[in-house]
Amino acid sequence: MRTPAETVRLMTEHLGDMGVPAPLSGGVSPFNVLVGTVVSLRTRDAVTLEVTKRLLQRAPTPCELAGAPLCELEELLRPAGFFRVKARQLKETARLLCERHGGVVPRNRDELTALPGVGGKTAAFVMGMAFGIPAVCVDVHVHRISNRTGLLATRTPEQTEAGLMRIFPREEWTGLNHVFVCFGQRVCLPVRPRCTACPLKGECEWNP
Ligand code: SF4
Repeated sequence: MRTPAETVRLMTEHLGDMGVPAPLSGGVSPFNVLVGTVVSLRTRDAVTLEVTKRLLQRAPTPCELAGAPLCELEELLRPAGFFRVKARQLKETARLLCERHGGVVPRNRDELTALPGVGGKTAAFVMGMAFGIPAVCVDVHVHRISNRTGLLATRTPEQTEAGLMRIFPREEWTGLNHVFVCFGQRVCLPVRPRCTACPLKGECEWNP
């Protein structure tokens, strides 16, 4: 029986063999990470990158974003999914950052999740990627693969987050998201996973 560490090691090595780059680490402002994460919901990576870049060129600080006209933000966000909702959420988030937090992104989960459009997943991503605070960011890929591989048997992302925090050491929490997401986009796809090429086949509960 494979350990959780071996499972992640096999996934990581396989991604390396496929030429998938390691995640960016450091040097990205918390505000940029927060904006990019909100934009990314239900949006392809390439579109997220482009839209976030344009948005941050127009409004590089929370106060500039808060002061930008809603119709202009909607236009910038149009290529992303749910652009009207995201425009409203980002403008309101920016206003609250200026009013409550002196124009900076807070570091703790409760203050982050009090912002519009920021759930546990986004908060964990911002904490881990922007502040280096260990956090497990559970999205659909992380939840699906954790259960398919038998690492966990959970029903909700919240249970998956708690389970992964239990079975992995704290210093590995933040990096799990990148491995699971990349693996979920390339190998363990939601529909028709590429099991024949998967390094976990043979001991995978979904495809033993
Ligand atoms: S064997 Fe198939 S279902 Fe299991 S982890 Fe690999 S790709 Fe996913």
